[in-house]
Amino acid sequence: MRVVVVGGGIGGLALGAGLRRRGYEVAVFDRDTDVAATGGYHITLDERAQSALRELVAPQIMRRLLASASALRLRDRDAFWDRRGRLLGRGPDLSGDAGVDVDRITLRMLLAEAVGDDLRLGRTVSGVGQGDDGAPRVLFTDAAAVSADLVVGADGTHSLVAQHLAGGPANRPAGLIGFSGRTLRSDLSPGEQRRLGPRSGLAIGPRGAAFYVGFLDPVGNAALDAPELRMSVTTGPTYIWGAMFPESAATDSLRDLRDGALRAALARRFRERGWAEQTLEVIARAAPHSLAAYRFNAASTRAGDLAPWPAGRITALGDAVHATPPTAGMGAGAAIRDAAALLRHLGDVTDGGTPPTQAVHRFEAGMRRRGSEILTLAMRTVRLVLATDTTLGAAATAVTTPILAAAARLRH
Ligand SMILES: Cc1cc2nc3c(=O)[nH]c(=O)nc-3n(C[C@H](O)[C@H](O)[C@H](O)COP(=O)(O)OP(=O)(O)OC[C@H]3O[C@@H](n4cnc5c(N)ncnc54)[C@H](O)[C@@H]3O)c2cc1C
Repeated sequence: MRVVVVGGGIGGLALGAGLRRRGYEVAVFDRDTDVAATGGYHITLDERAQSALRELVAPQIMRRLLASASALRLRDRDAFWDRRGRLLGRGPDLSGDAGVDVDRITLRMLLAEAVGDDLRLGRTVSGVGQGDDGAPRVLFTDAAAVSADLVVGADGTHSLVAQHLAGGPANRPAGLIGFSGRTLRSDLSPGEQRRLGPRSGLAIGPRGAAFYVGFLDPVGNAALDAPELRMSVTTGPTYIWGAMFPESAATDSLRDLRDGALRAALARRFRERGWAEQTLEVIARAAPHSLAAYRFNAASTRAGDLAPWPAGRITALGDAVHATPPTAGMGAGAAIRDAAALLRHLGDVTDGGTPPTQAVHRFEAGMRRRGSEILTLAMRTVRLVLATDTTLGAAATAVTTPILAAAARLRH
């Protein structure tokens, strides 16, 4: 069976790696010319995503990944703060959590290595369709079309393959825009280092302003103690942060700003909403070139709305089907789990028992459930932030946070 994968992001490469390992004829096409020259910060892989990955890549790739990843179990409990930096509560104990955070670049490079020369870079797909023989075909902007027995669209949020199958966009803007950056822990004042601590946290203020601070340290908190295998891009304790606001003309204009100008504008926006200066230090000390804007897109949370097409020899996975805002940190893990599930169902075809369309049908049913689960989680935070932008929501946030802060002071 020959499989063509459109898109060599996380899901497409994971699938390509698994197919190659099982001896399928596979080609993964991505428009990028260099897998390392890609955007992104860190990717969270929970236990389910890691066990899917173990099915797809060789043990040595997995070891290198874990040696380059920051273990959640070595992090303190997550914190919830108000806009003045007061502690409102803590998340669950992480000491038994098997999850890891890994640089997106590191993960993509390792997966690309596993796909080897079946990954074709610098190839922009312009469409999919069917040849005269009924076989699916992939068309390119500047090269001859290729045919396959199965085409899989792993081409992300703005997927051309999913649009072809669904007859329209598979997701829409979620109403929030995110601005991310990286700040070395050592660049912060001792007081702020202490307050933030070796933990991730979230603060939500009134009038639509939220701030996520994620902690990762692939060296000090390595998931696998094997420094000789390490290839993390992040080389010390680092906060990867994300400022979130409801989309508006004002936030759209922030997207035109870069580096120091964007950093200053973000801090100003929080300041105008009553955030304490201390809480903005992590923005002020961020590496200027690390700042980037991300519009959040989301597919429907209802399983029945996802992949709304009859199963056939063209399918899709990952963000192409269930585009998920990063607020649950589960989008990449779900794409990897999709890849492992598709590989398992294709195994039933090569074993001779199942027709290909039925295997795709079963795969898509599982993917709808997975997608709905992570979208429901991710949209909770999105809706919470949007709710603070209403008169009632702003008042409720302003009234409840001092009470929660006082209760937290009594508890700790
Ligand atoms: C630049 C970038 C940065 C990200 N940063 C983060 C992050 O910091 N944290 C986080 O949790 N998630 C991040 N994500 C999202 C996360 O990687 C995805 O949610 C997750 O990996 C789902 O994987 P996917 O394979 O479905 O899509 P993606 O990983 O988005 O991959 C899609 C791939 O398809 C390729 N592609 C698209 N259209 C075409 C075409 N027409 N022809 C050829 N190739 C095409 C793209 O170049 C891309 O490589 C980022 C995504 C991107 C693209």
